[in-house]
Amino acid sequence: MKHGSPCSRRRAEQRLPPHSCALFEKGPHGDQIVSGLLPDHGGRMATARSPCNPQSTVDLGAQYITRTPHYAKKHQSFYDELLAHGILKPLTSPIEGMVMKEGDCNFVAPQGLSSIVKHYLKESGAEVSFRHRVTQINLRNDKWEVSEERGSPERFDIVVLTMPVPQILQLRGDIANLISECQRQQLESVRYSSRYALGLFYEAGTKIDVPWAGQYITSNPCTRFISIDNKKRNIESSEVGPSLVVHTTVPFAVTYLEHSTEDVQELIYQQLESILPGLPQPVVTKCQKWRYSQVDLKKKTGKSSRRYNLKLNTLHSHLAIYKYSFKRNNSL
Ligand SMILES: Cc1cc2nc3c(=O)[nH]c(=O)nc-3n(C[C@H](O)[C@H](O)[C@H](O)COP(=O)(O)OP(=O)(O)OC[C@H]3O[C@@H](n4cnc5c(N)ncnc54)[C@H](O)[C@@H]3O)c2cc1C
Repeated sequence: MKHGSPCSRRRAEQRLPPHSCALFEKGPHGDQIVSGLLPDHGGRMATARSPCNPQSTVDLGAQYITRTPHYAKKHQSFYDELLAHGILKPLTSPIEGMVMKEGDCNFVAPQGLSSIVKHYLKESGAEVSFRHRVTQINLRNDKWEVSEERGSPERFDIVVLTMPVPQILQLRGDIANLISECQRQQLESVRYSSRYALGLFYEAGTKIDVPWAGQYITSNPCTRFISIDNKKRNIESSEVGPSLVVHTTVPFAVTYLEHSTEDVQELIYQQLESILPGLPQPVVTKCQKWRYSQVDLKKKTGKSSRRYNLKLNTLHSHLAIYKYSFKRNNSL
C-alpha cells in the first residue's frame, strides 16, 4: 500500500488480527509492515521449507489452532474466512496424548501455519520487509523514528509492536518512557518458556510407519512432542517426501539455550532415534531455537490462566492506546 488512503488503512487495521507481524507502521509513504527477524513470514508461526523441494514444509513453531467456544463466537469472522479460503482445516489426524476440553475444536493449516500470517499480510496490501532488527524508537517532531541495526532511521505516524514482551522491553529510546514504572514491573514479570524445534525432511516415497500423526511424550527428558507434520496436515503425497517435527521439553531447552545449534540438534536427534528406532535418514534438517516460546502462565502467578491472560491483554491494549494517543491530526 504505497499510497495508503484512509480506506485502505482502515481495511488493513480491520484485517490484521494479533499474531501477524512484528511491526505495523503507518508512515508518509503508506503502510509498512516489518515482519520480523526471520527471512520469511510467520514469526512463531514459522513454516520451514526443504531446500531440496520447496513443496515439502514443516511447522517449526505453532502446530495447530485451538478454537475455544468463547473465540468461536468472538473471532467467528476470522475462522469463517480462513476456512472458506482453505487456509485452515479441522484437525482430523490422531494426536496421541492431546488434552481436549469440551467444546474446543482444533484446526491445522494445510500449507503450514505461516500461511495464516501470509494471508493477512497480503490482505493488508501493505509493503512488507523482512530481516530488519528494530533497536530504538524515538519521538521526533510528533513522529516515531524507528532505528534499525542496519540502515537509516525512518519516521512513522504510528508504530504497533507485536513481539514477545522481553523483546519490547529491550528496545531503546523514548519508547522506554512510555511505560509507567508499574506497567514495566508487570511486563517484566511475564515469563516465557523456551523450546527447541527440530524439523526433518525426507525423500519422496519414504515411509514413517507410526499409527499417529502426532504424539505428546511425557517420559523423555528431551522430547515433548513429535509430529509427522504432513500427516498432521493431511497432505500426504507420493511426490513430496514426509516431514517430521520434534519439540523439546522446556527444561531441556533451558539447559542448552546457549549451546551451539549443531550440538543441540545432535542431542535431539539421538533422543528421537531412541523413541522411534529405525527412523529413516532425513535429507535435510532444520533446528530452531525458540527463546521466547509461549507465555508461562504457571510461573507468573499460579492464578488461573484465563485471569492472567486477561491481565496481559489489558496491559497490551493499554500500551497500544498510549501509543495511539500520540497520533496527531495529520494527512493519514
Ligand atoms: C514451539 C512453539 C509451539 C507453539 N504451539 C502453538 C500451538 O500449537 N497453537 C497455538 O495457538 N500457538 C502455539 N504457539 C504460540 C504461537 O506461535 C504464538 O502465540 C504466536 O505465533 C504469536 O504471534 P505474534 O505475532 O504475537 O508473535 P511472533 O510470532 O513472535 O511475532 C513477533 C515477531 O517479531 C519479530 N521481532 C522480535 N524482535 C524484533 C525486533 N527487535 N525488530 C523486528 N522484529 C522483531 C520476531 O522475529 C517475530 O517475527 C507456539 C509457539 C512456539 C514457539
